[in-house]
Amino acid sequence: MIKVSELTKRYARTTAVDHISFEVEKGQIVGFLGPNGAGKTTTMRMLTCFLPPTSGAATVAGFDVVEQPMEVRKRIGYLPEMPPLYQEMRTTEYLMFVGKLKGLSGTDLRQRVDTVYERCAITDVKEKLLGKLSKGYRQRVGLAQAILHNPDVLILDEPTAGLDPKQINETRDLIKSLAGDHTIILSTHILPEVEHTCQQVIIINKGRLVATDSVSNLQSRARGAETMLVEVASRDGALDTPSVRERLEKVPGVSRVTFKETRARGSTFEVENRKGSFARGDLARAVVQAGWDLNELRPTSVSLEEIFLQLTREQAEAPAEKPKAKEAAQ
Ligand code: ADP
Repeated sequence: MIKVSELTKRYARTTAVDHISFEVEKGQIVGFLGPNGAGKTTTMRMLTCFLPPTSGAATVAGFDVVEQPMEVRKRIGYLPEMPPLYQEMRTTEYLMFVGKLKGLSGTDLRQRVDTVYERCAITDVKEKLLGKLSKGYRQRVGLAQAILHNPDVLILDEPTAGLDPKQINETRDLIKSLAGDHTIILSTHILPEVEHTCQQVIIINKGRLVATDSVSNLQSRARGAETMLVEVASRDGALDTPSVRERLEKVPGVSRVTFKETRARGSTFEVENRKGSFARGDLARAVVQAGWDLNELRPTSVSLEEIFLQLTREQAEAPAEKPKAKEAAQ
């Protein structure tokens, strides 16, 4: 549905987007992730035909953003970080106005406005002035204008920025309910946002693509040194945790053992293994042969935040192909 190939945008001395390529399949929600200044907004503005690329190409539903901008605009809905809502207009008036700009009219327009009231749960504020709406409602009206012409693709820039936790949940649910019918790219610098909402992630940093993968693949890829949580209990009385730690440290391949906590059930240790030398069986045997009970043995999950830091750190440490462009993007 979306194809981006070597897309680049240079401002005077800044390379905001530096030869990025990715594809997004129909019906997916993709998280577009990167720290502030990474080039997310610039990429989105190129995809929505607001900004011409310096080089490279992008197509939306098969239409080129430079050659066929009218066709692209028909198929794309954009929610910028600050939705352009006219304070003095009422919700209905505004949606009718935007609908006409998007080429809708008559019964068609009225039906679409009715549909988005329901989809975005804004029926309550039909007759309210936009300037009087809460931030949560403003965001929903922003989404309503983005989906008004029933576009194939939705591009949402930081859709939950500035919302309270309840509004964040409502907006996330709304976005999820829109997937399937729509292909969605959602930009954010908030990592849990992606874990909650997206199947696929595109990570950019300093204008360059760092990774594009599914959340679960990224997690397994990031697990360099595998870490296990081991819960051990004593068969009789209190457990001597230093002895357990010492015993676990002797298991082949183990690089580090950290005592985590003691609870009624037993004591938990975090055991790190050197890459490629992971041995669950050896850990289990060590515990049992020493006369303790093994309550639990499970891999720790890696948060997207750790992955993100790991990937952006790797990029910073790797010799850059174009160090000048990278520095300029700062
Ligand atoms: P993000 O959305 O990820 O925060 P942006 O796309 O807004 O990142 O910005 C990427 C880089 O491009 C930043 O270094 C920013 O300062 C620069 N930039 C953005 N817009 C302009 C502009 N109009 N003129 C010059 N530099 C810009």
